[in-house]
Formats: sequence, structure tokens, C-alpha cells
Amino acid sequence: MKRLALLTSGGDAPGMNAAIRAIVLASHYFDVQPLGYRHGFNGLLEQEYRHLDTEDVYNIIQRGGTILKSARCQPFTTQEGAQLAARNLNEAKVDGLIIIGGDGSFRGAEHLSRYWQGNIIGLPGTIDNDINGTDATIGYYTAIDTALESIDKVRDTADAFERIFLIEVMGRHAGFIGLSAGVCSGAEQVLLPELYPDGLPDPQELADHIRRAQKIRGKCSYIMVMSENIWPGGATDLANELQTRTGIECRPVILGHVQRGGSPVSLDRMLASKLGAYAVEAMIAGKSGIMIGERNQQLVEVPLQQSWNKSKLLDPYLVKIQRQVFDLVKNGNNY
Ligand code: ATP
Repeated sequence: MKRLALLTSGGDAPGMNAAIRAIVLASHYFDVQPLGYRHGFNGLLEQEYRHLDTEDVYNIIQRGGTILKSARCQPFTTQEGAQLAARNLNEAKVDGLIIIGGDGSFRGAEHLSRYWQGNIIGLPGTIDNDINGTDATIGYYTAIDTALESIDKVRDTADAFERIFLIEVMGRHAGFIGLSAGVCSGAEQVLLPELYPDGLPDPQELADHIRRAQKIRGKCSYIMVMSENIWPGGATDLANELQTRTGIECRPVILGHVQRGGSPVSLDRMLASKLGAYAVEAMIAGKSGIMIGERNQQLVEVPLQQSWNKSKLLDPYLVKIQRQVFDLVKNGNNY
């Protein structure tokens, strides 16, 4: 292994820079030359790369975003796109490629492997935590804290004005951020896709719960944390629906892209540093077609195809205790 390339793809996540740094430092340590491709798979098509020296990654471990930029890339998904990427990688004399991204990026890795003989390793980098085979993904812990900081502030004003707030968090089609942010913020209600596999939540049940809380506590604040994509029209439409059903003012707050930004928290920096360094060692050992993850504090090698199957479960104990909070109010307890 003389030369390896790396890129960041899909939604950016805090900690991607820490992973880039770890890969570049480990590469230099083991005398491998790292190339950074910019703008995700677009960089492979445009041959947009540069050599990365240790000084390029100085002082980036604490920065959100990614110095390599990230992007989505439709042309890459075609056969011609992957063939062009393969030709360009060969022309740049790249022996192995490390892709930091989400499940879509890993499907892209698999797609490329049909046309390129070099080694490919994925690192899970997405705030959504929706990647199978690793307990957490790079960026997930920071996104929880970012959402939580905002929800705590909304709670302050909700409490002062005794208002109902529906707070929409990211997660694509997974409820990891929603569950963690909901439990940690003391939300009265949490709506996650995993809890409603057969359809939508029952709006009358939600409305009844809000009315019940107000009845037993008197006028009070009430926080509902909901995952994006759980309700058609999102928090705005559900707030309207619940306002109509309860006759109580319900306000939507959509946290949006703030959840993707910010300085990574220590857990994300540690995860990214470990996964990045290990990816280089695995690459040197000739491994390919795998994602590097961490389970129970052990670094693991997961076949790429396993990484995108949707069998990763929410923490069942967190789900249980959140449900208990919901039931306490439902059963008339003014906790
Ligand atoms: P996040 O979930 O954080 O947004 P992601 O990696 O899942 O990250 P996607 O937009 O799904 O983000 O995928 C990133 C890129 O990977 C796409 O723009 C595309 O170039 C490539 N890709 C995604 N799915 C496929 C696929 N099935 N075949 C080939 N390439 C794909």
C-alpha cells in the first residue's frame, strides 16, 4: 500500500475532520501517501484531489464540517460514473479508498467496487446513527447535544408561557436522535418512526395526552420531540392538527441543519480518531469491502452490505422509560 485516498460523502457530520486527521496522521506514520478527494464522489469524477500533509490536518480536530467538503453525486450512481471514477483512481495510482459517509455512501462504495480493483473501506459518518454494525456513528453524539441545547431553551420559554411545543429533529427515517434528545430533555412525548411501523401516530391519542397533562398540572408547558418524516407536512402540520383537536395553541420548532454543525463533542472525536487510525491499519493489512465500526468499545470490521440493512434497534430500555413518562401523565400523575 503506497497511496490511499479518502473522501467525505453525503450529509456532513461533526467529527468528520477528526476522522480525516486520524487517517492522514496514521498514513504518514506508516509511510503511506494520503490523497484527499473533494466534494464526495464528485471529486472522483472531476479528478479533484490533493496530497494531504500532516500540516493540512493541524488544528482541525475541533472543527465541524469537513475540510474535504461533502456532496451528493447523482452521475456517480451510473455505470459510466463508476467506471470514470475507477479510471481516475488508477490514473492517480491510488491503491485504496476510505469513504467517510452514511449508508448511501456505502452503497456507492459497493457500486465502485464492481469496476475498481483497489481496496475500499467505509467509516460511518452521519448524525443519524442509522448504520448497522456500529453502536454509534461519527457525529451522532454531537447532534444529540446540539438538539438538546435548543430543546432546553425552548423548554424555558415554553414553561414561562405555559405553551405546547412540537420540536422536529433530524434522523432521516430513524429515531436515534429523537429518542436520545427526547429522554435527555424530559419530553412528555416522543414520536419516532420505529414506534409506528404500520403507519402514523394517532393524532387523537396525542391530543388527549396534551389535554390530560394540562388538566392534571393546570396550564403547563409540554414538549413533544418528533423525528423528521414521521408526519406528512412535519411539525408544522401536526401542530395545526393538534391545535384544532385540543383547542390549545401548539407551536412547531424545526431544528433543521443546526444539528449537522458545531464543534464535535469528545465522544465523536474519540470515535473518529479510533476509526480513522484503524482504517489505515486495516487498509495496510489488505482488508477491503468493510466498514470499521465500534461495538462495546471494541473496534469491529463489518461487511459493507451489512452496514445498510435496517436491523439496528433503538435502545429498548430508553424506549421503555420514555413510555413510562408518557404513561405517568396519561394515568393522571402530576410528576
Ligand atoms: P446521510 O445519510 O448522512 O445523508 P449518505 O451517505 O446516506 O449520508 P446519500 O445522499 O444517501 O448520503 O448518499 C451519498 C452519495 O452516495 C449519493 O449522492 C450517491 O452518489 C452515492 N449513492 C447513494 N446510493 C447509491 C447507490 N445505491 N448506488 C450508487 N451510489 C449511491
